[in-house]
Amino acid sequence: MTQLSLKATTPDQIDFDEKTLKITWKDGVMSVFDLLDLRKRCPCVVCKGGHGGKVGTTTGGIQSITLYSVNKVGRYAINPVWSDNHLTGIYSYDALRMLADGLGGDLIL
Ligand SMILES: [Zn+2]
Repeated sequence: MTQLSLKATTPDQIDFDEKTLKITWKDGVMSVFDLLDLRKRCPCVVCKGGHGGKVGTTTGGIQSITLYSVNKVGRYAINPVWSDNHLTGIYSYDALRMLADGLGGDLIL
């Protein structure tokens, strides 16, 4: 399992617009996430179709999405509030950075 440094998984700045979520990490790298792609990867139990389900199970048909807001959860994750009023997804910084760097992890469809 790949170990990411603390700086690589700590956000310095989080921004979003109508298409993308941008996270600038403490190591200076900026990761840009497509909102629709990120919504489809929602790791919550509902979207995975139950405990033990796979990411993307119930979200494949979503056609468009925007963000209302992004709340920080402690020091480890963000909780997006989506335009379809979905707000139970917790995206850990580790998982987001792994996704951005193509390292696999919890958000792989
Ligand atoms: Zn979800």
